[in-house]
This record gives sequence, structure tokens and C-alpha cells, in this order.
Amino acid sequence: MKKAPASHARGGRRRVAGAGARAAPPLPVTGWIAQKRDGGELDDGAIRAVIDGATRGSIPDYQLSALLMAIVWRGLSERELGTWLDAMVSSGDRMRLGRIGGTKVDKHSTGGVGDKISLCLAPLVAACGVPVPMMSGRSLGHTGGTLDKLDAIPGFRSALAPRAFERVLARVGLVLAGQSSTLAPADRRLYALRDATATVESIPLIASSILSKKIVEGADALVMDVKVGRGAFLTDRASARRLARTIVGLGRRAGLRTVALLTAMDQPLGRAIGNACELAEAIDVLRGDGPADTRALTVRLGAEMLVLGGKAPDLAAGAARIERAIASGAGLERLRRCVELQGGDPRVIDDPDRLPRARSQVVVRARQRGIVTRLDAGVLGRAATRLGAGRMRQEDRIDPGVGILLHRKEGDPVDAREALCTVSFTDPRRLADVRAPIEAAFTIEARATSRGASGARLILERIE
Ligand code: URA
Repeated sequence: MKKAPASHARGGRRRVAGAGARAAPPLPVTGWIAQKRDGGELDDGAIRAVIDGATRGSIPDYQLSALLMAIVWRGLSERELGTWLDAMVSSGDRMRLGRIGGTKVDKHSTGGVGDKISLCLAPLVAACGVPVPMMSGRSLGHTGGTLDKLDAIPGFRSALAPRAFERVLARVGLVLAGQSSTLAPADRRLYALRDATATVESIPLIASSILSKKIVEGADALVMDVKVGRGAFLTDRASARRLARTIVGLGRRAGLRTVALLTAMDQPLGRAIGNACELAEAIDVLRGDGPADTRALTVRLGAEMLVLGGKAPDLAAGAARIERAIASGAGLERLRRCVELQGGDPRVIDDPDRLPRARSQVVVRARQRGIVTRLDAGVLGRAATRLGAGRMRQEDRIDPGVGILLHRKEGDPVDAREALCTVSFTDPRRLADVRAPIEAAFTIEARATSRGASGARLILERIE
């Protein structure tokens, strides 16, 4: 620890004798890790010291990682989680968006494969008059991140200082940004560590990570898309429901009106998996095209946001308004203005071919005729990550042009040798690693089974 400069010493005798002149004793982090590992509860002081140490960098990665793993196993009590969230929120600045009129509503997903909804949803909701201050994350584990998708736009700046964040929101009604260094900095550090240490899959860690961002960004209300299934962090419905209830309860206690939808993530959402190709698919939705599931979920989440934002009396009216914002092109226009104001090249909105595309493509074909009865989103998400669409280690760089374009999904018939998907890649060695798993992600059977019904429900439950 640095010695205080002499000018800070008020009196020679006091300074020599006073405790403040000595280095602070090291934090008993090892003891806290052991306490959590053994199923104990951390007191509020310990939790605040951990979050403070994570923010300042005074607790090393290996100790934080061990504690995170202990939390994955042992969880946090309601009191611990409340303090943990409060400490994360207090780790940095908090946006005050009072000058922007109206109820500000955001949406967040717990993470899925092919989930590009935020990119088309936020502009549509803004076009219907509800301000959307959206602070998103990067790819996490095998799931994509909105910020990485936005980075595919040449010049786009997602790192905005609080003033710029507010200015963009005031001018276009939406802002698509990441955490600046002063907003929820504790989450930035923990998020990156969790990504690299297999410690994402924890209800209290996911809930506090998401809510810390939403509270500091200045939102008044939140719609949560809690993913459940093979491609989600929580694969079973009971755990996803617990996560949804935790977020809704914790959010409300923190003054954020929150509604959660449990949505299916067994197969990927839409047809595109990867950063640039997912952005292109979101633009398709704003143009009135795009895959039916992606559009349906956009409309439903948008309706929820309009009701929370006081711009629609009920979900049916909200859905009709979102549909109109698609048909009129108002949503597309909002995205264009937002991209422009955030320094990006707005020409990609009219011409998505300008987005980066990997040099090489290979088509994966069906070995036999039949029906696709199962399409494993988890396997495809991990394959896309390996290709470079996500990070295997913290320091990895994203390759925006790689990805997987699905030609067949669950319930679709396919002939032998017909295309199942096209893989865009840059590194042939990585392609070699993922080719077999991608093929195995498609289960093809002679007859449709109940497992792979094409009409499988997308929206499973609503929790408020
Ligand atoms: N999204 C987040 O912001 N944090 C998580 O932990 C998971 C999804």
C-alpha cells in the first residue's frame, strides 16, 4: 500500500501512533471462501468487502473465482443476496434519468443461443414512445451477447460515458450500451471471471448481475426473458422458474417493477447464430421479415414493455402497436438513428451485406431423409463459440463474421444430402473441431416425435 504523502499528516505524534498510518490488515478472504464452501452464511461486512475488493482489484482473480464457485454450489440466502446486489449497485455511479420523461423500460435475457431479440425489440418499443435505456452484456459461456453483436457494426461505440448515454436516449428514445468503467464495475469484473471459470450457472449470481446493471442504468421497469432448455444456463423448468421469481422479487424490492417470461431455449432462436449474422436477422425482423419465432417473441416482449411503460392498456393492444411499428418502418428508422448517434455506419441497416462475413463457408448436409426431431441449442452455441463467435478465455477476440445459419429446425422435413446449416469460419482447425458436433446437434428420425413438434411452445410461463 502507498504511504500517505507527508502533507496529509496532521500531527507528527498522532501520525506515528495512529492505525491509519499502517497498511490495512489483509482481508480474511480465505476464511470467507471456506465459510461459503462449508455452507455457512457471510455477514454483510464480508459481502461488502468482497464486492469492494472485486471492484478495486485488491482481491486476486483466484480468490474471487474460488468464492464464486462456492456460491455456485452453496447459493446465497435472501439476506446475503440483497446485500450482494446492493453492494454491486453501490460499486460505481448510478444514472439519474429524471430529465427524460416517461417510464423507462428495459428488457434483459438470461442468455440464449441465437437470441438477437434486444436488437429489434429496443427500437420498436422506442418507436412506440417508451424510452429504452439498454445496458447489455457481452457473450457469456456458450451464449451470445448484445454488445458483441453491435460491435459487428463498423464504428459503433457501445462504451458510452453517462452523459453520452443520456444524450443518445434523449434524442432517439433508446440507447444500446455496455457498462462504462464507472457503472456497476463490480459486475464487469465478476462477469468476465464467471465466463472463464464455469461459474455462470447460479441463480443468485445471474440475478444480481442482471439487476445491478438495470438498477444503475436508471430503468423504472424491466421485462426479463428467462431462458430454459438445452441452450440456456438453466436447463430445467423448475430452476428457471426459481430464477424468474428471484429476479422479480429482488427487482421489486429494489424499486424496479419487473415481469418475467419463461421462454423455450431448447433449439436456437431464429436461424442465425453468430454476431454479424444475428444482427442481420434482427434487421430482417424490423423490415417485416425474419423467422416467425424471433418475430413472435419480439412482439410479445414489446407488448409487455408497452404495458409497463403505460403506452398500452393490455398485451393485445401492445402487440398491435409493435406490429404497426414494424409495418411502418418506424422501428428500423429508430435503429438507424441510434447506430448513427453511437458512431456506427448506418448504411448497414439498409445493406446488411456490409457487415463482416467470414472468408469461408461449408454446408453441413443430412445423412438421411426424415424429420428433424431435435436441434440442440447448447451444442450449437458451444460450436459457435469455438468458431470465434464467443470467448473461450477472457482475452479472446470475437470474430464477428463467423457463425452458423440454420436451414432446418425442429419439425422440418429433410431429404438425404439436403443442407442442414451453413457454417461460416475463418480457422479451418476450429471448423474441424466443431464439424462433427454440429452434425450431431441435428437428430433426424423417420417420423415426427413429440420431442420435436414444430409447434412447440415458445412462451412457457409469465411471472410477476
Ligand atoms: N446476463 C447477465 O447480465 N448476467 C448473467 O449472469 C447472465 C446473463
